[in-house]
Amino acid sequence: MSIPKKLGGLIRQSGLPDWPEQFRMSMERGLEQRVRLAVTGLSRSGKTVFISSLALHLLQSDQGRSLPFFAAAAEGRIIGTRDLSTESASPFPLQQSLTGLQASPPHWPDSTEALSEIRLALRYRRKPGLGRVLGEHSTLYLDLIDYPGEWLLDLPMLTLSFEQWCKQQQALFASAPRAEAAADWISCQHEIDWLAPASEGQRHRLAEHYRSLLQQLREPPHNLSLLQPGRLLMPAELAGSSLLDLFPIIQNWPEEPENAAPSSLFTQLQQAYNEYCEQVVRPFYQNHFRHFDRQIVLVDCLKTLNSGEACFNDMQLALTTLLHSFQYGRNSLLRRLFRPRINRVLFAATKADHVTANQHHNLDQFVRLMIETAQREMRFEQVDTRCLALSSLRATEAAQAHLDGQHLSCLRGHRKDTGEEIALFPGEVPIELPRAEDWNSDRFRFVDFAPRPLPVGPLKPEHHIRLDQAIEYLLGDLF
Ligand code: GDP
Repeated sequence: MSIPKKLGGLIRQSGLPDWPEQFRMSMERGLEQRVRLAVTGLSRSGKTVFISSLALHLLQSDQGRSLPFFAAAAEGRIIGTRDLSTESASPFPLQQSLTGLQASPPHWPDSTEALSEIRLALRYRRKPGLGRVLGEHSTLYLDLIDYPGEWLLDLPMLTLSFEQWCKQQQALFASAPRAEAAADWISCQHEIDWLAPASEGQRHRLAEHYRSLLQQLREPPHNLSLLQPGRLLMPAELAGSSLLDLFPIIQNWPEEPENAAPSSLFTQLQQAYNEYCEQVVRPFYQNHFRHFDRQIVLVDCLKTLNSGEACFNDMQLALTTLLHSFQYGRNSLLRRLFRPRINRVLFAATKADHVTANQHHNLDQFVRLMIETAQREMRFEQVDTRCLALSSLRATEAAQAHLDGQHLSCLRGHRKDTGEEIALFPGEVPIELPRAEDWNSDRFRFVDFAPRPLPVGPLKPEHHIRLDQAIEYLLGDLF
């Protein structure tokens, strides 16, 4: 429903200047069908590729070709889509992504290092019947933001004091693989008197040590996710700022912190933690992580299968923890006007093109295992949820191999690391949690692929896997 011009004018001119701005915006948003889709995912889960592909397909959705399961497009009801991202202070670099994917050889878009936004306006024809009551045409405004996954992990810190955060980190660093990788760091903490006077330089040096530890834990073979503070890994405009001279105390927690010298590391770190939460995390949360209507949570399940049980457990914990930062619940009309809540969530296993088509159902099941706890909590709040394996940009094609007189389903594509063309049998995705011996074997070795060149002209259904089903689930009812 677009806001009738007269009513829009009335709201602005009668000034209702005393109406809180939030009310006016909520009113407009409620009537205009502005939808904010939270694209949530840890680092490298596929957010940038998903947003690029979603935008490209939607910008062509008036042609009704590439998204057969997105009903409004397939029925020819999308009249046109416009990219309004230039209205944003930090527009998403869609053209840059596109240029890379169309290059020869094509390459994936650069990983996100800062926040950017994309805003699309989709003009559509209403379903027959509704047009008589509400007018034949309408516009849906869709907002998406891309941000480094590392920053997202800081959101749970807002609910913890410095002491609670340190205790939480202490528990994490007590088990493998953190305990082994951090042995040096832990023994160095043993020798520190946290309450004695100390210089800022000392805090800075210790923070640098901690930063390189986090970097090591993020990379293979560990591939861990729950790494805080996330800005130490992806600082953007805060590079070099003393706000990032921050790390948890995990050994020798002082018995009488009230006796800390004003310049002690304890006092410095406690202050740094509070400043970090208030000056970095809270504004990020307030400006970008409230007022969502729908959500897609992107999960790279195949990476956890490749990396082992510790990576799986860590990613599961990271996802469950950070989903607490969003508001879920039923969205009555009134609530939608004032304080919308997320009422529909899609959990998507990304990179489904890394496995053969007969494994997509298994991948649906595996992502369900990973987000079980979060999904249960959302269901309690009567939030619609679904699990789906998808590929935003399909990089492989199906192939057949013959072995001992049997047909085997295989994949053909170019390896991401070497660019070499390969055909392989990627193996099966388990539908239950692997047993210890399976985790420890070489059973799971899913290969990363380079993208296939994206055509300059119209996209087709074979350029993605189930992206249209994701769009239909997330937005279909709004058209
Ligand atoms: P972000 O950090 O969440 O923004 O992750 P990106 O969107 O940058 O994706 C990280 C990497 O995952 C990319 O560079 C690709 O290698 C891979 N990737 C993402 N989406 C797909 C997909 O649909 N298919 C394939 N084969 N790889 C993908």
